[in-house]
Amino acid sequence: MNAPKDLYGLVGYPVKHSYSAAMHNAAFAHYGMNAEYHLFEVPPEKLEEFFRLRIPELKIRGLNVTIPHKEKACDYLTGSVNFFVHRNKAVNTVRVESDGNLSGYNTDGPGFTRDLTEQGVVMAGRKVALLGAGGGARSVATALANKGVAALSVYDVDMVRAKVLASIVKEFFPQISVTCASSLEALGVGDADILVNATPVGMKPGDPLLVSRDLLSPKLFVYDLIYNPAVTPLLEAARAVGCKTSNGLGMLLHQGCLAFEYWTGKPAPVDVMREALLNAVAQA
Ligand code: NAP
Repeated sequence: MNAPKDLYGLVGYPVKHSYSAAMHNAAFAHYGMNAEYHLFEVPPEKLEEFFRLRIPELKIRGLNVTIPHKEKACDYLTGSVNFFVHRNKAVNTVRVESDGNLSGYNTDGPGFTRDLTEQGVVMAGRKVALLGAGGGARSVATALANKGVAALSVYDVDMVRAKVLASIVKEFFPQISVTCASSLEALGVGDADILVNATPVGMKPGDPLLVSRDLLSPKLFVYDLIYNPAVTPLLEAARAVGCKTSNGLGMLLHQGCLAFEYWTGKPAPVDVMREALLNAVAQA
């Protein structure tokens, strides 16, 4: 009789358009592992039940966590919790330990900085303007701080959230100049080296361009965490003025590679996972 497969997956709501299964299943196949990655579409009111009952019942070994559960899922972690997960209150990777405890990591920020490094973008000493202060932005901000950026300015429609992000960065990286902008105009895009969009603005058709075109100049590197669509209004405008740009597909790849390593202890087959991801995107 065939042994049951080790189960991994993504929990979110909705999840049906996710590319993560293609990338992780390709990695399992690469190592000849008897494992499978599933998509678990779980509404917020069922999240606790999923974590407390379904994970042991289904013998799930590892999970990625996505919108809208990254914050709430922190409440159900019972094992060791990575320092920045705890402080940022955003988990995107859960490992089920042999005793059943759930350890939490966040690979979004390190995935983001790995992608920038791969693209040859220098972060140390640079000024960064950040749009958004949600879970993704908090992970990105602490990862950028860890890479030695000189200054960070952040704008979010929710000023309280921007202040929380700023206080976390200041607490651990006091040498970095951190500013909470009260408006988009005050974000200092014209003075920045790197502009990051960590809001969902740009995902839906007809979404506006958040930053005035006049503030974009070719010296700016513009990164949008959004990868679907591949070109957001921000990236389109930035390309038009000659900026180097990137969407968030590389971040998705590298956060997935790091999650794979936490779960399996094996080095992620990055090129295999990249190819599977690109194929999934091409077929979407
Ligand atoms: P989130 O927790 O909802 O945070 C988004 C933040 O942006 C919220 O605070 C939101 O405020 C704010 N916001 C919305 N509209 C804004 C505007 N016009 N100006 C300024 N701030 C605005 O979401 P998230 O999890 O951080 O994700 C953000 C984006 O990153 C999503 O598109 C997500 O798909 C993407 N992402 C990509 C990757 C990747 O691997 N590439 C990883 C993580 C996230 P309100 O809540 O008040 O609207």
